[in-house]
Amino acid sequence: MNKDLALFQKLSEKLLKAEQEEPLVKPIPAESLFETLAISLEDAPAEDEKFEEILEKLVLSTPRTATRLFFNQLFGGRNSKATLGDLLAVMLNNSMYTYKVAGPQVGIEKEIIRKSCNLIGYDKHSDGTFAPGGSMSNFMAMLMARDAFNERIKHEGVSQKLIVYTSEESHYSIPKNAAFMGIGRDQVHYIKTNSIGQMNPTHLAARIKEDLENGLHPFFVNATAGTTVLGAFDAIEPLSKLCKKHGLWLHVDGAYCGSVIFSKKYKHLLKGIELTDSFSYNAHKMMGTPLTCSIILSKHKKHLNNSFSNDAAYLYQTDGDDYNLGKTSIQCGRRNDALKFWTLWKSVGTSGLEKIVNHQFHLAQVARDYIKNNKDYELYSFDNSISICFNYKGIPAEKLCTALYEYSEAMVGYGTFNGTQFIRLVTINSNNSNQEILNFFNVIENFVEENHSILLTEVI
Ligand SMILES: *Cc1c(COP(=O)(O)O)cnc(C)c1O
Repeated sequence: MNKDLALFQKLSEKLLKAEQEEPLVKPIPAESLFETLAISLEDAPAEDEKFEEILEKLVLSTPRTATRLFFNQLFGGRNSKATLGDLLAVMLNNSMYTYKVAGPQVGIEKEIIRKSCNLIGYDKHSDGTFAPGGSMSNFMAMLMARDAFNERIKHEGVSQKLIVYTSEESHYSIPKNAAFMGIGRDQVHYIKTNSIGQMNPTHLAARIKEDLENGLHPFFVNATAGTTVLGAFDAIEPLSKLCKKHGLWLHVDGAYCGSVIFSKKYKHLLKGIELTDSFSYNAHKMMGTPLTCSIILSKHKKHLNNSFSNDAAYLYQTDGDDYNLGKTSIQCGRRNDALKFWTLWKSVGTSGLEKIVNHQFHLAQVARDYIKNNKDYELYSFDNSISICFNYKGIPAEKLCTALYEYSEAMVGYGTFNGTQFIRLVTINSNNSNQEILNFFNVIENFVEENHSILLTEVI
């Protein structure tokens, strides 16, 4: 083991150095991947020296998500304290289902859940768990809602037309989850958004009324805190009123920006969060922990238990249910995703988490100001968002993003709203400073200047 740890240290140091010197790797075309790297597995073992050589090549040719020019995803950067926690979780290799096997790690997870519930104003009847990502957190929310609506379904199966509401700008896991659950994709009713990408409550009210008149069974509303493209926050209070009126479960998908709960300055974006039935957020997005770290909270501990507990005499042999976390999770064997968030939180305190959130909004403001003050750019995003959407000199966003990637200049993606496509710069890497944001625009400008011909021809 010590030998491999030394190799780990050596490879990590090379990676850190490479990230500084070359923030982007030259992409390997997918068609030639297996000829370029010795990935194929053989009968014979790889000799130590060869093994190390292959591993180094693999590490150094993998896309670099921690660097100052990676803006492609709703995560980015590397938090060293969180990384330390995750490395320790791998070394410890517990499974989170029982206190007998996970010991104090159970306390780590419970503490994060309790503190998170307190922050959003859920009382002592609330609880939560860690799911394998935001999509699965949404799944767990929908499942609790289904069972709360009709507790016989988990025994008898779905036989009614259950209706889900979510905005047109919401995450694609909602229809997928409806399909997984036997509810069906067609039973997801999409609600229009307003001009800044928030769910329109008037349209929701009309849709519920129509569905009830048609004998359908509305049960679940999914609101979004940070939509995937624009980073918009649905207004919770009007949605909560409608849900209360019709007895619907209200979930807030905060996978992207739910971490604003840590900021006194931006928490108002989730005004009314205490009125919801469930809420999820991904610490691997705004909090910058390694993937994955997704937390699902429910105001109703009872429903979390109802939907997810199962007796298993071979597993639950000691300690009370409160410490046997397998009673509220979707998996059986479960990775310790809590420790990496705990090492971060413990080391910087809640006030440090607040600084991370505030800094991301600050960087977003720097980017918006730059765009507003430069006539070659057009801005499509709104205040209170860390997704900065823009176009440069009218160049089609898809073309520019793909060229920047293929020429190893920057990793950034594009999105569409109201039929317009634009580049989406995500200021979620809190290791960045103003400098890195301004440098990003510089990279684009220089690239366009030098490669005008590439961008003007049809095929790049
Ligand atoms: C990222 C995201 C998800 C999915 O989370 P994963 O951890 O990638 O499964 C769900 N909803 C929203 C709004 C997201 O931004």
